Amino acid sequence: VFEVAGGGFKYEPGHVIDLFVPVPGRLAMKRAYSIASAPGFAGPGALELAVTLVPDGPASTALHALEPGATLEADGPRGSFLRWPAERDQRTLFVATGSGLAPLRAMMQTEFARGDGPPVSLLFGCRTENDILWGTELRTWEARHSRFSLAVTLSRASSSWTGRRGWVQSHLVELVAVDAPERVFVCGLTPMVEEVRRILGTLGLPSSAVRTETFDT
Ligand SMILES: Cc1cc2nc3c(=O)[nH]c(=O)nc-3n(C[C@H](O)[C@H](O)[C@H](O)COP(=O)(O)OP(=O)(O)OC[C@H]3O[C@@H](n4cnc5c(N)ncnc54)[C@H](O)[C@@H]3O)c2cc1C
Repeated sequence: VFEVAGGGFKYEPGHVIDLFVPVPGRLAMKRAYSIASAPGFAGPGALELAVTLVPDGPASTALHALEPGATLEADGPRGSFLRWPAERDQRTLFVATGSGLAPLRAMMQTEFARGDGPPVSLLFGCRTENDILWGTELRTWEARHSRFSLAVTLSRASSSWTGRRGWVQSHLVELVAVDAPERVFVCGLTPMVEEVRRILGTLGLPSSAVRTETFDT
């Protein structure tokens, strides 16, 4: 959770900020992070980020080593992976893997804060039970909002996991058939995002209905 110094920082769910991450022995490294909280949800003037620890990744390693109270420089917000305010009443499917849930979580926080609305589904892929980011919040939404349906799939589940298994791609056809989304937001690493886009195309969703963000480009 970061507090933004100076005040007046405005953003929308889906926006990204660029952090200048101090890395020992090197110049600060500029890295993009999706804002994971809807405006106001992390406290006044604050925002949340979710950073995956990438093995041998200099910036993510340095961010995970930050002490509470550390100060970073940042640029932003920026980005085009935004909600469409004019199309708020469309059935929406969110598809994410890992920290790709970050911008979608900010969107869902905004969406559920307004109360009633169209159906919202989330297809979320993680490795193990321990990697289910914001699992408690997701389950709370599932219990509170009858219009929300949650499908978590694990690629390396333990033997006791009774839920879905495998990659998000394997569950897409079934969910689209059940939920009939009118728009889809997809976020994660390029191979998943491209494959999901391809499958959605074969299912007849127009490319204008699919918004994507990739973390490794
Ligand atoms: C628009 C945008 C938004 C982003 N938002 C986020 C975010 O909200 N959370 C986040 O953790 N990262 C996010 N990233 C990725 C982030 O900018 C860095 O690339 C990441 O933290 C790795 O940096 P690094 O210096 O540790 O490793 P690097 O040496 O720069 O990267 C090594 C490799 O790590 C892989 N990688 C990058 N991001 C991830 C990831 N999230 N999960 C698994 N593998 C990854 C890529 O294949 C990359 O080539 C975003 C990137 C973009 C372009």
